[in-house]
Amino acid sequence: MTNKELADLMYPNVSKTISDYEKMYPERNLPEGAVVSRYAPSPTGFVHVGNMLACFIENFVPNQTEGAFYLRIEDTDQKREIEGGIDNIVDAIKTIGLDYKEGVISKDKEVGDYGPYIQSKRIDIYHTFAKYMIENDLAYPCFCTQEEIDASREEQKLNKTRIGYYGEYAVCRNLTNEERAEKIKAGCPYTIRLKSRGNFNNKVKFHDLVKGDVMFPENDQDIILIKSDGIPLYHFAHVVDDHLMRTTHVLRGEDWLPSVPVHLELFNMFGFKLPEYAHLGLMMIVDKEGTKRKISKRKDKDFAVKHFHEIGMPEAAMQEYLITIANTSFEGWRDNNLDKSIYDYKFDFSKIGSNPLFDYSKMLNISRNYISKLSATAVYEKLAYWAMEYDLDFYNLISKYKEYTINILNIEREQAKPRKDFACYSEIKSYIWYMFDELFNSCDKKYEWQNISNIDEIKNIMNVYISKYYDFNDDKDTWFSKMKDLATELGYAANVKDYKNNPDDYKGSIVDISMVIRVCLTTKSMTPDLYDIMKLLGVDRIKNRISIL
Ligand code: GLU
Repeated sequence: MTNKELADLMYPNVSKTISDYEKMYPERNLPEGAVVSRYAPSPTGFVHVGNMLACFIENFVPNQTEGAFYLRIEDTDQKREIEGGIDNIVDAIKTIGLDYKEGVISKDKEVGDYGPYIQSKRIDIYHTFAKYMIENDLAYPCFCTQEEIDASREEQKLNKTRIGYYGEYAVCRNLTNEERAEKIKAGCPYTIRLKSRGNFNNKVKFHDLVKGDVMFPENDQDIILIKSDGIPLYHFAHVVDDHLMRTTHVLRGEDWLPSVPVHLELFNMFGFKLPEYAHLGLMMIVDKEGTKRKISKRKDKDFAVKHFHEIGMPEAAMQEYLITIANTSFEGWRDNNLDKSIYDYKFDFSKIGSNPLFDYSKMLNISRNYISKLSATAVYEKLAYWAMEYDLDFYNLISKYKEYTINILNIEREQAKPRKDFACYSEIKSYIWYMFDELFNSCDKKYEWQNISNIDEIKNIMNVYISKYYDFNDDKDTWFSKMKDLATELGYAANVKDYKNNPDDYKGSIVDISMVIRVCLTTKSMTPDLYDIMKLLGVDRIKNRISIL
């Protein structure tokens, strides 16, 4: 029986050939040097910052070379798949603000000429390639049961030989086609295995864009290409998909590095051009306690990309941080190119650190810096967008008082050294809530009184102030000099120096007076500029806040 006859028996319904697919998915028409890269996750749930770093780089490089980036979903391991897994991935990509145009766009939508982009929809394609391998004696059906495989492993362990399906252990390799056909006709389940040509004693050398020159023994394992249910395993799907989707650069986790000899063998068997490989080190994190470690699915919900969406982390800040850890020379470039877009930075594979480190507090700092440079209107819009999804009451409030909110957000903003309070949009409410009567009046107020905590003294200071010294129309200098007058009238030093020199002569100083006013109006001992706050609150709110002390 010829291999062709065996292949027809195994795949009676496969009518296409590899060259049909080559025609359907021609070389991409892109400029010389354009990079085609992809993010190829399995929809297994927890999408964390490590995944997003890889995705970000895979998107960044094509972007710089007029290339292409696409999202492929690798859902061949259905046991690990979870409900909503694809949406999680798509949402994560959107959370970091990547606008991609090819591949899986949502659970039910794909865009692009190289699809289907979900592996479970590509089964016919894999079978065509598997059929070709059978026809050309590059693969064979294997009828070993799990028990037989396990027994062979035990024997290998006992004999202290390499574990796997190779050489004398690859028993189905030596069946005749007649024997194979007989078993197939009898309905025996079978997998499809690579008929490896490799020799373990030879070395294969290849160049990895991150790891440099790497050397491994040649593959000699007859690995499973297609499981008994007809679904391919990663190695086979990787080669078929990345070839047909015309990927030029495969960037993936370094756990795949030892598999490269298998991939090289497969690419060579088909005579396909090899992609460039870049294997990324496992991301480490520095958690909020400052501990450096691997990401744990159980403990590190804060490192799930979903979390960054929930807290309203600006996309641009996340991207700035991701490129910072993606390329060790970015920060130096940034210092000399303060106002440039990150996309002006030339990505360098050789500057990918061996274990990228995600430092949560560093990202928050980058974000504070980023938000501080936005206009008040821009912050308002982002805040409203966030609140619409996560805090509808607050959204309604700031929509009702839009101009007022923008003015609040503009305190110590739009100037050379803006305040850097907010690291994400969800934090803003906790900084500005007291400006809104709706929130101020209804909350359980915890006044942060400092040196002066006697409520009669506090009330006296506030009453004298509002009746004798406060004028809404005063400019800042006049406002401040009147506060000094108030201090003097009530027995407090008008400046700190006087108080320090003669503490016994005073009840306190101007600092204590302004603190009382600040805490009375906001409950907080630390706020942005008090003059600006009072200007925005206006006389009625100020009087009300004194009356409810
Ligand atoms: N689905 C594989 C994984 O999640 C992708 C590896 C690759 O990018 O090729 O590890």
